[in-house]
Amino acid sequence: MDLMRRDIAICTRLLVDVDILEYSGHISSRLPSGDEFLIQPVDDVRSNLEPSRLLVVGLDGCVIQGEGKPPSETAIHAEIYKARPDVKAVAHFHHDPTTMFSMVVDRPLLPMKNHAARWPDGVPIHPDASHISSIEQGQELARTMGDCNAVLLRGHGEVVVAENIKALFADIVHFVENAKALADAGLLGEIVPLTREDLEGFEATFDRDKHARKLWSYYTVTAANKGVIPLEWLDD
Ligand SMILES: [Zn+2]
Repeated sequence: MDLMRRDIAICTRLLVDVDILEYSGHISSRLPSGDEFLIQPVDDVRSNLEPSRLLVVGLDGCVIQGEGKPPSETAIHAEIYKARPDVKAVAHFHHDPTTMFSMVVDRPLLPMKNHAARWPDGVPIHPDASHISSIEQGQELARTMGDCNAVLLRGHGEVVVAENIKALFADIVHFVENAKALADAGLLGEIVPLTREDLEGFEATFDRDKHARKLWSYYTVTAANKGVIPLEWLDD
């Protein structure tokens, strides 16, 4: 089986299983050619996504290979891939406890836990609350995100980007953990975000690839035991 296709299907099913994805949202991965990516058809049920169903889509948002229409917000993926050559995997989802941070004043989504080192200066908020359905809207979103590895869409959802699907999955888990930690800590008292110095100290001793593989192993084996993914999809 094509491992990139398998990993997108696994990542999508896992995110449903942990209540981050539901009936909408999507994961994509850039193909080695650089100007094409894999993404699911708009109406395929996320919890049952099959690797063979993934569409090959160009950076113009048009389907090159596969059956079905791409998601209505495919411009999010296409325009981020155009703007950020370093990005190889993109997730868009609508996780309400995280999206809350686009709905309040004076409470930016700052790094509270050490794995938030991926977003050391916090996470920008994109002001356009409508669906990102045009190329122009996708370009605006990519501009708001800039060099950050995530962006909040005001009153809508979030986007997280990474260098591959396994790293993307780990980043999403930590992204929502950090948002929850910030919300909970704010109930206890005045928050104390981690500083750049704190986060640089963490990263100096952190093996990102090893950590991503560890999370992937834990979540995939647990999911396979529950029947969320087939046992034969597990890494050897
Ligand atoms: Zn959306």
